[in-house]
Amino acid sequence: MYLRRRLPLSSVSASAKTHIPAPAAPVQASDALPLPIRYTNLLFTALFAASLVFLMRRWREELRLSSPLHGVGLAEIVAIVGLVASLIYLFSFFGIAFVQSIVSSNDEEDDFLLSNSAEAPSSPVPVPCTLLCSASSLEEMPDPNPDDEELISSVITGKTPSYVLETKLGDCRRAAGIRREALRRTTGKDLEGLPLDGFDYGSIFGQCCELPVGYVQLPVGIAGPLVLDGTRYYVPMATTEGCLVASTNRGCKAIAESGGATGIVLRDGMTRAPIVRLPSASRAAELKAFLEAPNNFETISLVFNKSSRFAKLQDIKCALAGRNLYMRFSCSTGDAMGMNMVSKGMQNVLDYLLGDFPGMEVIAISGNYCSDKKPAAVNWIEGRGKSVVCEAIIKEEVVKKVLKTNVPALVELNMIKNLAGSAVAGALGGFNAHASNIVSAVFIATGQDPAQNIESSHCITMMEAVNDGKDLHVSVTMPSIEVGTVGGGTQLASQAACLDLLCVKGASLETPGANARLLATIVAGAVLAGELSLLSALAAGQLVRSHMKYNRSSKELMKVAL
Ligand code: ADP
Repeated sequence: MYLRRRLPLSSVSASAKTHIPAPAAPVQASDALPLPIRYTNLLFTALFAASLVFLMRRWREELRLSSPLHGVGLAEIVAIVGLVASLIYLFSFFGIAFVQSIVSSNDEEDDFLLSNSAEAPSSPVPVPCTLLCSASSLEEMPDPNPDDEELISSVITGKTPSYVLETKLGDCRRAAGIRREALRRTTGKDLEGLPLDGFDYGSIFGQCCELPVGYVQLPVGIAGPLVLDGTRYYVPMATTEGCLVASTNRGCKAIAESGGATGIVLRDGMTRAPIVRLPSASRAAELKAFLEAPNNFETISLVFNKSSRFAKLQDIKCALAGRNLYMRFSCSTGDAMGMNMVSKGMQNVLDYLLGDFPGMEVIAISGNYCSDKKPAAVNWIEGRGKSVVCEAIIKEEVVKKVLKTNVPALVELNMIKNLAGSAVAGALGGFNAHASNIVSAVFIATGQDPAQNIESSHCITMMEAVNDGKDLHVSVTMPSIEVGTVGGGTQLASQAACLDLLCVKGASLETPGANARLLATIVAGAVLAGELSLLSALAAGQLVRSHMKYNRSSKELMKVAL
């Protein structure tokens, strides 16, 4: 039996109240034509075809009988009107949307170009799941869907796999609600604090997150302006670490007051390294020689680059472990971070090689020599994604006034901590104070893959006294920043808004890849600011004091005092 329950108003957060989308009806053709667009599309397409066939037949008949073509009867007039009306419809605004929907569903390549200007997709028919609402907010809710209770029980018993709900219902919001209720009943945990409403579940379906039951809220702070290559950027950082945004902001201020920073992209190429096994080590060595021979590069590139018009093979490096061969292919990927693109290209090459090296056995498309989401010297040395260096000269007075320390103290601390200290620790790419703090926060805000923070945070921070020892030259060198502005989480509404703030949303139409490269430079610039500020705090002995101030809520401080 269905209980009609409502969410108490107090339990709905202010943001959720403003962001809960109105229950979406199917898209209508127009106010004047209040039919679902898919029906009007069908109707006018059928009208067009019928009128055309009718008129062709009649005119063919008249030609055969040698009757004059201009003598039209009522039936012909109706058919001509139908033809003109359907043509106007099909080529009008709605028709273009119709044609676009066909084009975009067939051309995977252009999905992102089209969706750049289009609204983010929404859940097909979001109907609030009444079973998830409590007793006092019900009036505005639509009638409960009588199938929900049955489906929840079926999910709990395992009869209906939870993962089919979206496809089965054609309603991502409802699917999430049913899954969540099943989870609530199974675990006895009410998930209070994990909101369900206020999120477009349609936008993640099939690409960003499976089996959703809600979404985690993260605050986004702004550090900046970060003055980089003469432009002011306001850098969005999603974090729950107190002090982080404030500290990066202070670094940005020091950079801005010293005239700004400069960033250079040294290299731009995503990598994938499959592993293949050959009958013997000597056969594996033969394949290595074949792949690395300059004469074969053009042929292999042709095969690889078929994967996308943005994929351009740059380099192949191979390593052997006995009769296993690891082939690390590197390619530019436009504005995409590029893992999918490079994997597709790699698959083309593997299929091609299987023809020429019959004993070759493909073990896996990724053999860890790529190396994705793991600390690895290959990324630190060879680079992966964007290799960026960013530098600034911080004036003596700014070091004193803004950073509250002095140049010799910073230079010495950087040498003893970031260089010697990390060497003592046997660091791999970790010659910095906290690059990963800034990288992770910017990655999460802008829809990057946070797991790639591992190699993207590789960074060596250098500090030296310049201008007769008065000013500070500071730089960060980051060989493997893996970012994209299309694909993955970048098209989700909040993340796209953060990318837009940095003017790097979506694909760069003038120079493919320019947006992703600029984003990588901004990440490095923000890291530069973060390094400056944290090292200054350490040099001035402020760290513990500022963390006590920002990292503890007054409630916690009260507890400490007690
Ligand atoms: P990722 O591997 O980062 O998830 P994909 O390679 O799957 O990204 O997706 C990139 C998609 O975006 C491809 O379909 C590609 O054709 C499309 N695209 C459109 N414009 C661009 C662009 N400027 N740069 C790269 N890809 C683009």
